[in-house]
Amino acid sequence: IKKIAVMTSGGDAPGMNAAIRSVVRTCAYYRTDCMGIYRGYQGLIEGDLIPLTARSVNNIIHKGGTILKSARSKDFRTKEGRQKAYESLKKNNVDALVVIGGDGSFTGGVIFNKEFNFPIIGIPGTIDNDISGTSHTLGYDTALNTAVEAIDKIRDTASSHNRLFFVEVMGRDAGFIALNAGVGAGAEEILIPEEDLGLERMLESLKKSRRSGKSSSIVVVSEGDKTGKNVFELADYVEENLPEYEVRVSVLGHMQRGGSPSCFDRVLASRLGVSAVELLLDGKTNLMVGLKDNKVIATDLEKAIKGQHNIDTELLRVSDIMTT
Ligand code: ATP
Repeated sequence: IKKIAVMTSGGDAPGMNAAIRSVVRTCAYYRTDCMGIYRGYQGLIEGDLIPLTARSVNNIIHKGGTILKSARSKDFRTKEGRQKAYESLKKNNVDALVVIGGDGSFTGGVIFNKEFNFPIIGIPGTIDNDISGTSHTLGYDTALNTAVEAIDKIRDTASSHNRLFFVEVMGRDAGFIALNAGVGAGAEEILIPEEDLGLERMLESLKKSRRSGKSSSIVVVSEGDKTGKNVFELADYVEENLPEYEVRVSVLGHMQRGGSPSCFDRVLASRLGVSAVELLLDGKTNLMVGLKDNKVIATDLEKAIKGQHNIDTELLRVSDIMTT
């Protein structure tokens, strides 16, 4: 393998730049050429590639977003689109691909590999942490810290006005951000998709908390929670049933996807980038690099896509005890 290309694809996440930097510098270390592909698979199809040297990635380790931009590509879902992508790689003499993205990006990568036998390694980058084969995806730790910081601020105003706040956090169908940010920010209740404890339970718990002398509370709601009500409906429901509460809603939204990556995400990105390039140079393909027990491991890309990353609901018990 003489030349490796790197791209970011799907939703962006803090730490992607640190991962790009790591891939580029590892290539330079092993005297292997490196190219960056702009706008994920779409940019690849359109031939939007640039050579990257160790110096091209100066000063980006601390930056959120992705300098290579990201995109969702309809064309890559078609055989013709993938043929163009392949031609683009051949034209630029690229021998292998590192894809930083989520399970959709990996699915595209697996299909591409099967069609063209093209070496590919995935680096999991998404704030949702919903990929199997790694305890942490790139961006998850940063998003958690962003969410906790925001909830801390909401707590200040909640306690000044004796209010109950429903705070919606991201995570899609996974409750990692909600559960961990909820415990970290000392939430009264945490609603996650993996465990629907029912609305009655939430009312009981809020009643109990009022009786115990608490004047303000935070309920953290995962965007994918299974109560059947959105965060505004939940707030209305509580106000109807517990008139003693003055309820407000805050949806944290896309701020959770941005910002300077945490030290954890920078270190993880650096480690995964090195491993991705070394695996390719070692003749390996169709793998995703990830973290397990703080060791970098490689998982079969298809297994990473299909596998479940289960949440540790033990944390719900911890949260319960903390709200005594
Ligand atoms: P995130 O988890 O942040 O959404 P993702 O990688 O899962 O990231 P997707 O939009 O699902 O994001 O996928 C990114 C791109 O991967 C798609 O726009 C498409 O180009 C490609 N892709 C996804 N699924 C397929 C597929 N079945 N066949 C070919 N390409 C695909």
